Amino acid sequence: MMRISGKDISLKIKDEIKEEIEKIKVHYPRVPQLAVILVGDNQASQTYVRNKERGCQYVGMDSLVIRHEESFTEEQLLAEIEMLNQNDQVDGILVQLPLPRHICEDRVLEAIDPSKDVDGFHPANVARLFLGQHSLVPCTPKGMMVLLDQIGYDLTGKEVVVVGRSHIVGKPVALLCLQSNATVTIAHSHTENLKEVCQRADVLIAAVGKAKMINSDYVKDGAVVLDVGINRDDNNKLCGDVDYEDVKDKVYAITPVPGGIGPMTITMLLKNTLEAFYNHMK
Ligand code: NAP
Repeated sequence: MMRISGKDISLKIKDEIKEEIEKIKVHYPRVPQLAVILVGDNQASQTYVRNKERGCQYVGMDSLVIRHEESFTEEQLLAEIEMLNQNDQVDGILVQLPLPRHICEDRVLEAIDPSKDVDGFHPANVARLFLGQHSLVPCTPKGMMVLLDQIGYDLTGKEVVVVGRSHIVGKPVALLCLQSNATVTIAHSHTENLKEVCQRADVLIAAVGKAKMINSDYVKDGAVVLDVGINRDDNNKLCGDVDYEDVKDKVYAITPVPGGIGPMTITMLLKNTLEAFYNHMK
């Protein structure tokens, strides 16, 4: 069994980005800059934003973290995004989700200049991904594709089953697998015979949000399992959607939780910011 360490692979990629930033310092007037907006005091969001800031620092990118009280209005937020859209020192704009209830997420995400949409959530980027055109791709799905690439796994002709159909994970990763010539099934809470559907998978992607739901009954011998879930088990220990201990002897390769997909997500955010920078410098 191969344990796919997203932690190690993401560190390797971050070091490559770091080297690239050193070259950018020589050849360009400035380094890439990521702006992150956080509204409210959601604890998990605070941690995510801190980690994004640390990621930027590690590779030598500029980061601008803007924090607002919960009472910040949608109008104020839209005005701030417009200022960042106009600011040619800023390459990436990320609004940390979830937003307080009085702010419409869709309106906010649509206000971001698609060329600065490093989360890949703007409808223009979603449409490009759908059409198979070059776009800024959501970070978690992009991280999964990089992991498969890093272990030398070719998706051509393979059966992929994605459990979960969210806009941020399930749907985009399914499209990316399709682009890589896999045969893709997207399963969800209404899927009948989920076990049998999952048993077909050469690559099983679990993006459900249910602790250890996928056990060895769902997994084909020799499958690759990518576990996106971040959950707490009965002992309040961090765990994925996959019961790692139960499936590990059956699979060809698997991502652990923690240390699998999670670390890749921030690294892909840095990659997207770098990509946006090069586009802005053209
Ligand atoms: P989400 O928006 O809640 O979507 C969950 C999906 O799972 C839905 O499509 C839902 O189906 C499906 N589902 C729920 N129960 C099911 C069941 N019993 N059988 C089959 N399908 C079922 O979640 P998400 O945002 O995609 O996130 C999924 C997990 O990944 C969460 O644990 C989240 O914390 C984690 N995550 C991790 C990262 C990372 O960086 N590692 C990034 C994002 C998310 P319906 O559509 O029918 O309701």
